[in-house]
Amino acid sequence: MAEKSKLEELFYKRKNAWEVLGDKGMKETKVFCDEYKEFLDLSKTEREFTKNTVALLDKLGFISIKNAFETGQNIHPGDKVYYVGGKKSVIISIVGKESILKGINMVGTHIDSPRLDLKPIPIYEEMELAYLKTHYYGGVRKYQWLSIPLAIHGTVIKKDGTEVNICVGEKEDDPVFIITDLLPHLAKEQNDKKLGEAFPGESLNVLTGSIPFKDEDIKQTVKLKVLEYLNRELGITEKDFISAEVQIVPALKARDIGFDRSMIGSYAHDDRVCSYSALRAILSAGLCKKTTLCYLADKEEIGSVGNTGAQSDMLEYFAAMLLELTEEKSSDVWLKQLLHNSTMLSGDVNAAFDPAYKNVFEKNNSVFLGKGVGISKYTGSRGKAGASDASCELVHKITTLLDENGIVWQIGELGKIDEGGGGTIAKFAAKLGIEVLDIGVPLLGMHSPYEVASKVDIIMCYKAFEAFMKSN
Ligand code: MN
Ligand code: MN
Repeated sequence: MAEKSKLEELFYKRKNAWEVLGDKGMKETKVFCDEYKEFLDLSKTEREFTKNTVALLDKLGFISIKNAFETGQNIHPGDKVYYVGGKKSVIISIVGKESILKGINMVGTHIDSPRLDLKPIPIYEEMELAYLKTHYYGGVRKYQWLSIPLAIHGTVIKKDGTEVNICVGEKEDDPVFIITDLLPHLAKEQNDKKLGEAFPGESLNVLTGSIPFKDEDIKQTVKLKVLEYLNRELGITEKDFISAEVQIVPALKARDIGFDRSMIGSYAHDDRVCSYSALRAILSAGLCKKTTLCYLADKEEIGSVGNTGAQSDMLEYFAAMLLELTEEKSSDVWLKQLLHNSTMLSGDVNAAFDPAYKNVFEKNNSVFLGKGVGISKYTGSRGKAGASDASCELVHKITTLLDENGIVWQIGELGKIDEGGGGTIAKFAAKLGIEVLDIGVPLLGMHSPYEVASKVDIIMCYKAFEAFMKSN
């Protein structure tokens, strides 16, 4: 009979990542997560994430690839470039030592998150209370947005073309906003309804004011008071909301969770946790053998649509410019060669096993909080529909790389087969011939206004991206 230790090697066992983190690792995790929390609070929309990222890149000497392309400026190994799509998505790259035609090591994530968008004509008044009408964006459980403090973030293009950025509800002395909930005393009828039907989309109206404007001839006086405030403070009119992108997000700051401070609660870990980790990874990996790339896409939560989503040709456009500027090759077949030789880690969050809702998970094939960065060979729903399904060769390559670098990882599916499912940007990269594997941080309460991530999974995610960028 074989030795006991040999027999134990026959099992696959998940590790608790905290147990392998030494003192140095603990310190590194704390510092990284403190910086992440700060970035989260400043980047609650994709536009804010983009703006803050670009400010950082400019400071670090990155240049616009579009400018380089337009001026015919060649780029060389070690050069750092970026492209901004529609102020809501970014592609970042550091040119590697070997030819780009041998492929790029990419990490692709998304920087949009579920939220409530304002309708084009949002302001109305009822019974002398002023409200904003919203249209929810992405997979939102509507009841979670009631009775919590809300902030307003957005961009308005005024009649004269000037841009006004709105951010109210984040500073300590700012007012916040709210969608009121029904009191239990009068909720009998609502309680009898199915959860999915009890909170219609049209009921998500944000309370914004209650003092009337003093003018006996004007009927909508509370609404006017709000309009007057907006005009005085921001110089905008009701019509300006037509050319605006304004989002209602939780007015909550990212904070440590638990006596041991092992977790972070925040709005929009999905998918800023992978996006921030990818951004930090490309910066710390620096000049590598392969060209590295970080794709921060928009619109994933509504199907990666639009000209800033991963279904757009932004990645191809970027790769084509890079190819022209490094290799002076512009034909389509060379671009395809480059893309087909490339590999992407599709960084997105996954649903962590939640002991409070065990029955929707399959224990053997779930990811768990604190057990490292989570790999998903495939996503999808109803029989893998909509999945990219990574090759077993790529799963082997990446898991081996993580093992060699002492990075704790786990593998899992998103819940039980017939409970639902989800997707990522993986399939859109795969469509271009890129080998893709889904990987990211497990979350509790995904898509809620306050999602929970484990700090140790976040640091492992960052380390996984960095090791991948540096790999051959
Ligand atoms: Mn996501
Ligand atoms: Mn999502």
